[in-house]
Amino acid sequence: MKRAVVIGGGVVGASAAFHLARAGVDTLLVDRRDAGHATGAGAGIISPGTSTRPLPAFFPFAKDAVAHYPDLVATLAEIGQATTRYEVVGELILAKTDEEFAHLSALKALYAERRAGGMPNLGDVTDVDGVTAKEMFPALGDIHGALYVPEAARVDGDSLRNALVAGAKRHGAKIRYGPAALRIDRNRVTSISIRIRSTPTG
Ligand SMILES: Cc1cc2nc3c(=O)[nH]c(=O)nc-3n(C[C@H](O)[C@H](O)[C@H](O)COP(=O)(O)OP(=O)(O)OC[C@H]3O[C@@H](n4cnc5c(N)ncnc54)[C@H](O)[C@@H]3O)c2cc1C
Repeated sequence: MKRAVVIGGGVVGASAAFHLARAGVDTLLVDRRDAGHATGAGAGIISPGTSTRPLPAFFPFAKDAVAHYPDLVATLAEIGQATTRYEVVGELILAKTDEEFAHLSALKALYAERRAGGMPNLGDVTDVDGVTAKEMFPALGDIHGALYVPEAARVDGDSLRNALVAGAKRHGAKIRYGPAALRIDRNRVTSISIRIRSTPTG
């Protein structure tokens, strides 16, 4: 049987541990449980097609990740982990200034181009005036206008992470809490030392 150690139990490590354990790999997840992890801080917006990130490698990866969410959420629900708070809720791209308002049509064209290029979860992006945007999301202040992206989703990072960790355990992964230190020799990890602070119950 293959063995794997995953260091870091944020949403990325939890996902790796879940998928490894589910694939039959003997998996150990080690997490230092830092108070300020990104998974807890993140807004959980799943809408990479509206990102202004320029990295060319990002979009193919993001496409696959977005497409994977519904399957992942269903798979977790099947093993009793339904509390991911994943939901397709739509997204408003706000214009708070004249300048931003003037830029909305270029953004709309960019999203249409990305959608035609295969980026999922954008849908048919529409213009929304300031009053309608406020009706959609009453906490908004005054804005000049917005774009509505109907298929954008969101997830609660901590809930998803917890569901993935529980799912990993269910598939036999071991979870340990404490820091791990790597010894690296010429870009290869040659050893891992782990200081266990606590072991979870259950
Ligand atoms: C304010 C904010 C808003 C964001 N909004 C979004 C958003 O809307 N949409 C989106 O897609 N992304 C968003 N992100 C990004 C997203 O949250 C992160 O990309 C994601 O959570 C990263 O997860 P991670 O598992 O890599 O890291 P983390 O969640 O930081 O987890 C890392 C874990 O590794 C542990 N660790 C680190 N080193 C060690 C070690 N040596 N030994 C043991 N454990 C260790 C830490 O204790 C921690 O628990 C946002 C991020 C922030 C900060």
